[in-house]
Amino acid sequence: MALRDSRAEAENRNGKTVKVPEGLWLKCNGCGEILYKKEIERNLYVCRKCRYHFRINARVRLSIVLDEGTFKEYDNTLKPSDPLKFEDLKVYSVRIKESWKASSSKDAVICGEGLIKRKRVLIGAFEFGFMGGSMGSVVGEKITRLFERGLDENHPVIIISSSGGARMQEGILSLMQMAKTSAAVARLKERGVPYISILTDPTTGGVTASFAMLGDLIIAEPKALIGFAGPRVIEQTIRQSLPDGFQRSEYLLEHGMVDLIVDRKDMRDTLSKVLDLLVPEVPAKSARGSSRSKKSPHAPN
Ligand SMILES: [Zn+2]
Repeated sequence: MALRDSRAEAENRNGKTVKVPEGLWLKCNGCGEILYKKEIERNLYVCRKCRYHFRINARVRLSIVLDEGTFKEYDNTLKPSDPLKFEDLKVYSVRIKESWKASSSKDAVICGEGLIKRKRVLIGAFEFGFMGGSMGSVVGEKITRLFERGLDENHPVIIISSSGGARMQEGILSLMQMAKTSAAVARLKERGVPYISILTDPTTGGVTASFAMLGDLIIAEPKALIGFAGPRVIEQTIRQSLPDGFQRSEYLLEHGMVDLIVDRKDMRDTLSKVLDLLVPEVPAKSARGSSRSKKSPHAPN
């Protein structure tokens, strides 16, 4: 679980040996406060003291923004293969099987459709717990299919990113997904179909360098790490120290890379308002009845 990872990281980062009781309590990575887990869950996994946004898994994310019970998953049978027979510390095929056991998904993104305040959207959310949300062939294909469905049906697409970048175990095949997904976004833009990109902690590497930064609207969660290479690599390359807050949402907003920073508790309302502005005629139909063959009323042709 992402929360367990966050907690372990907090302990490592601070180098402290504070023991947090299993199950009931969490240590905030932002302020170090020991928090009651149930209370954090009630607050959408955000610290009430310092607004630190814990990493959450894809299904929790979707449940926070979508109307209850409206999510319908697409392409959930697509599974990664190991065409390069890649091996680093572990064989790639073994890593994949371990990730299947630890995650509720067959790869690092979950795509589908659902309703936001009765407005239908096509939506994908990254599963950071699955190999660091890395983008290999399956992730690229699922994202591209979602964009293409948006194009076919003239429906807005939302992608919630949380990724370490391209999946090195798939070599060039993973790098090709950057071009493939970006080309699909370009086709959406040509047709004027809205695409909203939501960046959460962390969004880095090949995902940042492709579709995640190509949204018509780019929204970030507070203090999310967003960048291409990590700060240490950049410092070593340019031989200068980086400014405070570099590669965080607030810095990117100040420098025009992000349009809005939205707290998790406000994300659903914000998306609903944006959808009203961008596509006021989004039909309030059931997400359960697919309309792949039908044109929505606001189709331009
Ligand atoms: Zn805190």
